[in-house]
Amino acid sequence: MKALLLHKPAPIETSPLQEEEIPTPRPKEKEVLIKVEYCGVCHTDLHLVEGEIIPPSYPVIPGHQVVGKIEKTGEKVTRWKTGERVGIPWFYSSCGRCKFCRKGKENLCNKAQFTGFHVNGGYAEYAVADQDSVYLLPEKYPGENVAPLLCGGVIGYRALKLTPLLRGETLGIFGFGASGHIVLQIAKYFNLRVFVFTRSEKHQEVARELGADWVGKPDSSPPELLDGAIIFAPAGELVPIALGNIEKGGTLTLAGIYMTPIPSLEYPLLYQERIIRSVANSTREDVRELLDIAGKTPLKTVVEVFPWQEANQVLQKLKTSQLKASAVLKF
Ligand SMILES: [Zn+2]
Ligand SMILES: [Zn+2]
Repeated sequence: MKALLLHKPAPIETSPLQEEEIPTPRPKEKEVLIKVEYCGVCHTDLHLVEGEIIPPSYPVIPGHQVVGKIEKTGEKVTRWKTGERVGIPWFYSSCGRCKFCRKGKENLCNKAQFTGFHVNGGYAEYAVADQDSVYLLPEKYPGENVAPLLCGGVIGYRALKLTPLLRGETLGIFGFGASGHIVLQIAKYFNLRVFVFTRSEKHQEVARELGADWVGKPDSSPPELLDGAIIFAPAGELVPIALGNIEKGGTLTLAGIYMTPIPSLEYPLLYQERIIRSVANSTREDVRELLDIAGKTPLKTVVEVFPWQEANQVLQKLKTSQLKASAVLKF
């Protein structure tokens, strides 16, 4: 099969991903072989390629928003049949025994493994995965539109779950990228009122089209206090701004894996039982629940599709903010 391998991290401008012909992997007893149709491109892939995060070994095949059809199943696979359309997300597996796993917090397991990092991902014509690490995809979505649900969508959904809100209450979303788009739609499905804070006029327009109840710049005052908020932008200076707009007892959830330093806070911003929390990765349950919601209500994802051979260039565009939407590679 053809695959894009990373032998050594390097600046993306030097095209570190190499196209190579390697043997198609054979599924072990409990694994499935997936013929990849689409794979989403994520900021984490860029961090991996440029060496900001270091995988246990090289070469590695990146890609953790993998969409494809099952081509072959291992001898002991019970859950899947050939021809089924499935996805592989970022969370791949965990130890299942530690205190985190026992509490349903497998995303925090010290031995957690991630797709396209600990195990090879979807920047290839084929991928193998454990039968418990793949998910049936809702039928009504074209492959390119379902791919972004597998990372941005899942993280966004987890962030929303960790921000306790009742029907009719108001959620603030700061930063309107891949996750923000999807969370807005899920929040509307849950009958929340949604206020979107984003600098970009284009994003403000899209937020209105997708049903936002109010849209404004990050430093503008919303018409009423927020009952909870999520920050998707990696900008620490948004923390005091968001907190200043949050109602007593409300939660502010920080959804990024990276954030610039958070400025010092005046205690009254936090007092009255306001909570700040972060989100790390996701669990299998998050993926299943999100895909279930996606099956019940159409979630729109805005994508730009590229031939897989252009992965290096696409990652360069991602680095320099030249992408209009979530990028997806087609195989
Ligand atoms: Zn990702
Ligand atoms: Zn564990």
